[in-house]
Amino acid sequence: MNIIKRSLLLLLLVAAPLLAQNPDWHAQFPAFKIAGNLYYVGTADLAVYLIATPQGNILINSDFPEDVPLIRKSIEQLGFKYGDTKILLISHAHGDHDAATGLIRKDTGARLMIMDADVPEEESTAAGRPGAHVDRVLHDEDTVELGGSKLTAHLTPGHTKGCTTWTMQVDDGGRKLNAVIIGSPNVNPGYILVGNKSYPQIADDYVKTFKVLNSLPADLFLGAHGAYFGMKAKYEKMKTGAPNPFIDPAGYKAYVAERESTFVKEWDRQKKNPGSPAR
Ligand SMILES: [Zn+2]
Repeated sequence: MNIIKRSLLLLLLVAAPLLAQNPDWHAQFPAFKIAGNLYYVGTADLAVYLIATPQGNILINSDFPEDVPLIRKSIEQLGFKYGDTKILLISHAHGDHDAATGLIRKDTGARLMIMDADVPEEESTAAGRPGAHVDRVLHDEDTVELGGSKLTAHLTPGHTKGCTTWTMQVDDGGRKLNAVIIGSPNVNPGYILVGNKSYPQIADDYVKTFKVLNSLPADLFLGAHGAYFGMKAKYEKMKTGAPNPFIDPAGYKAYVAERESTFVKEWDRQKKNPGSPAR
């Protein structure tokens, strides 16, 4: 592929999520407690998680710069301070989860911690990239600790090279719950799984990701987009006083199984049609 074609393809890959914009991405959503010290402060689809500790807070995902005022409002509505954000993490280096990391880091002084293979994307100043300085480079299974809370970074690559699934044990009134925040198991339109020159091991990486996701104990089923885990419907259900609907181990298993079979089908299709990108 010549350099112009390659640049166009790259541009398409970067622009694709923007073209596919969902109205929920930038819509305000009520902030709420998921369980224990884990809170939802994202938009109606772009998930942002706040882990509140006595030594300040951890945020997972920044969304786009235009979403930061909504995130800030959500944090304040819960009685926390945006300025107390000490650590900033992401699900993966795509604009819908990380475009504002540089902004939040600058606003709050939070330390930005990113999985090794996503660091070049995070620090890139290309269009749509945050150009954010990474304060700590994470490796598979590294832990992030603050004020008695501990998160583990599981490398779940494929969707991006450093895509990260976060887990933590939440203490919900004495009950220990395993939270899993899925980075992304999705093969996006345009993705090439067979003969991918810039990411030759992409298909093997997805295989690894499903192995990891299948191995994680999950009580609280969460992810980078609310749509992964039926966030809106579960929020409505929670308001009725039902048992916490985010505790959904069966939903987690079913979701991972469905995504894995979708990946395998797409991989098989591409093996028969090499060079034909995912739609
Ligand atoms: Zn993505």
